[in-house]
Amino acid sequence: MAEYKPTIGLEVHAELKTQTKMFCDSLNDPDEKRPNINVCPVCLGHPGTLPTINKKAVEAVIKVGLALEGAPNAETRFDRKNYFYPDLPKAYQISQSGKSIISGGTLRGVKINHIHLEEDAGKLIHDDASGDTLVDYNRASVPLMELVTEPDMHNAEEAVAFMKEVQLVLRYLGVSDADLERGQMRADANISVSATNELGTRAEVKNLNSFKSVFQAINYEIKRQTELLEKGEVIQQETRGWNDITQKTTSQRSKEEAQDYRYFPEPDLPSFSTIVFDIEKLRMELPELPAARLVRLQKEYALDSGQAELLVNDLELGEFFENAVSELRADNPEATIQTLYNYLASDLRGLMNEFGVLLRDIKINPEHFAHLATRVDDGKLTSRQAKDILRKMFETGLDPEDIIKDENIGTSDVDEIEAVVIAVIAENHVAVTDYKKGKTASLQFLIGKAMGILKGRAKPDMLKEIFEKNLH
Ligand code: ADP
Ligand code: MG
Repeated sequence: MAEYKPTIGLEVHAELKTQTKMFCDSLNDPDEKRPNINVCPVCLGHPGTLPTINKKAVEAVIKVGLALEGAPNAETRFDRKNYFYPDLPKAYQISQSGKSIISGGTLRGVKINHIHLEEDAGKLIHDDASGDTLVDYNRASVPLMELVTEPDMHNAEEAVAFMKEVQLVLRYLGVSDADLERGQMRADANISVSATNELGTRAEVKNLNSFKSVFQAINYEIKRQTELLEKGEVIQQETRGWNDITQKTTSQRSKEEAQDYRYFPEPDLPSFSTIVFDIEKLRMELPELPAARLVRLQKEYALDSGQAELLVNDLELGEFFENAVSELRADNPEATIQTLYNYLASDLRGLMNEFGVLLRDIKINPEHFAHLATRVDDGKLTSRQAKDILRKMFETGLDPEDIIKDENIGTSDVDEIEAVVIAVIAENHVAVTDYKKGKTASLQFLIGKAMGILKGRAKPDMLKEIFEKNLH
């Protein structure tokens, strides 16, 4: 039987976090809870009002384009996309059709067709109790970026990885929080399968609002289309919707009944060239991007790829790590960096989870965190002690050096440990004799005794070593 090769193209939408909306000075505030607060005659589409272009939104799209190696276009234009739906107060959406801000580009080896700018629609809220539908226009006309890829991906994993990378880039550039759970990022997935070199007929699954639904919808479509073709049927080009409950896509409209949006150039806005923006300055100002950071962190700090990935995927965590490492001694050995990483990735993150605190709100500063890692690596703190001190640092914001001094914590020195070991040997004849006869468990017993006297202020390995020395 023929092998059907899947092909996928994505259209990724992201709300830009500008101060104001796309074509007016109403606030763009995704946190506004009261409905219809951030509205004005322009974004409500009152007759006689005129839109003006939000330069910051255009600039944000240019930055994304430059980061993805796309080209800012010399001629760009907004168009009216006409359709009638209550979330759209003007009965048309201002979008771009054909003359987008950015052409081309690439990310993770996936070619980008273009990136354009449009306005978001309002939110419809269906009230099950009354059966009414309410409308909130706070989101109407919020700047919405749309990135369209070439049909250049071949499985669901690749599509999700691409989308995650777009999300990271948007966050690194600071142009969007791109939080899918908050509706700030969503995607349409175009899927086809083909047994030849020609692309098959595609289905477009609209409005996928989680990575999981992107993944599942793509796999569902690949299977559905493959089965149809294997039965000798043909694929209809159509728009489909994903149902999270049934885990299926269903047809929404076929190509024949495709809406005619009657696109035409927006007469109330001028076409313009991206040259009016200082492209070279924007290019110079681009931050280090996630892919480059992943490579650098591994090289600079001898981290493995999983460790580096954790720091790349969480920009703030990565910055905290690098700031803390820079506070280590100049000769900071790789081992201390590893210790620092481990206390950050597991213990500190554990405390943040336990207390529901974000990194930006914690009391510990990177310098103090570096002190802790150094103390652990110098053998001055056991890991048990370090965990307790970290908790105190977390609660108080104190320098671990001060906690150690104030509470007289720290591992005992070798002489003190040795004195305790000798005393324990003298007082536990039976265990000592048993050990000498070959009962290794007796050594554990002796170590336990000594640890009790030292109140945990010794590293178990060290204690074991001193016992062995004194028992022979
Ligand atoms: P439209 O203008 O109808 O939306 P486009 O040609 O712009 O169509 O394509 C929209 C999206 O569909 C793009 O992401 C593109 O990569 C993808 N696409 C186009 N043809 C196919 C195909 N045969 N299989 C999978 N994806 C496709
Ligand atoms: Mg489309």
